[in-house]
Amino acid sequence: MREHYLYMVQARMHHWRDSQNRQFIGMRLWRNALQYFVFRRGVMSLGSYQVGGFVKTDPNATRPDVQLMMAPYSMDSGAAGYAFEPFPGMQLFSYPLRPRSKGHVRIESADHRVPAQVAANYLADPYDQQMSVNAFRLMRNVLAAKPLASLLVGETRPGPAVQSNDEILDLYRREGQSGYHACGTCKMGSDALAVLDSRLRVRGVEGLRVMDLSVTPTMISGNTNGPMMAMAWRAGGLILEDAR
Ligand SMILES: Cc1cc2nc3c(=O)[nH]c(=O)nc-3n(C[C@H](O)[C@H](O)[C@H](O)COP(=O)(O)OP(=O)(O)OC[C@H]3O[C@@H](n4cnc5c(N)ncnc54)[C@H](O)[C@@H]3O)c2cc1C
Repeated sequence: MREHYLYMVQARMHHWRDSQNRQFIGMRLWRNALQYFVFRRGVMSLGSYQVGGFVKTDPNATRPDVQLMMAPYSMDSGAAGYAFEPFPGMQLFSYPLRPRSKGHVRIESADHRVPAQVAANYLADPYDQQMSVNAFRLMRNVLAAKPLASLLVGETRPGPAVQSNDEILDLYRREGQSGYHACGTCKMGSDALAVLDSRLRVRGVEGLRVMDLSVTPTMISGNTNGPMMAMAWRAGGLILEDAR
């Protein structure tokens, strides 16, 4: 199993006009929800992260190694439930695109009611550790760059106490989060660990195929939903071909 692993940085902003936080609080929330349901317009019709980038953080890299996403709102991590911060804020996150740490999903029992054991094993590989530090410093550089810097009061999460590589990694270990892109536990291919053949058929089992993100032999270097839909389309074609 591979997974994108990220940390969410947040900053306080000077002006309400630059942040969407209050659009999701109180009467504005009701108005925006109504606007979306009736007209399909307004802040509720926007994607949750409106700015993204693929960046080379290693100067020797031949292609981008980190994905960056930014949003004009910030979450209140101290709140009991799911809440936006009661002042103007923004957030950004980034993750290494091709992590090397491997986790697993393991069947614990022949009884299907016993949950499988999931171990993500984040940051086990030194490459992922270095790239996570790079990704974090990239976010700091973005916040410090003009013209964004002039809109900010300052970083609120994690804040200036986190500086060294060890502090950054400690932060990731304590407060990092999944990118919701877990994949690879039932991979297709021809090597000994491949559960599926190249037509998505489970080796050694007649009449059974798998088609979901678990079939990818390695991590997709970006968001997974689009590639997943393309693969599902292709899988439909393979099934029809074999049926003929
Ligand atoms: C919170 C969140 C945010 C995300 N944001 C993005 C994003 O912004 N961009 C992006 O590209 N990707 C995003 N992803 C990742 C993306 O959604 C997944 O990579 C993608 O949906 C994986 O597709 P899949 O077919 O493997 O699994 P799924 O989309 O999870 O499909 C599995 C399906 O199987 C069904 N199912 C499960 N068990 C059974 C059963 N026993 N019988 C019948 N049906 C069953 C489920 O109901 C589900 O419909 C996000 C994921 C999450 C969780």
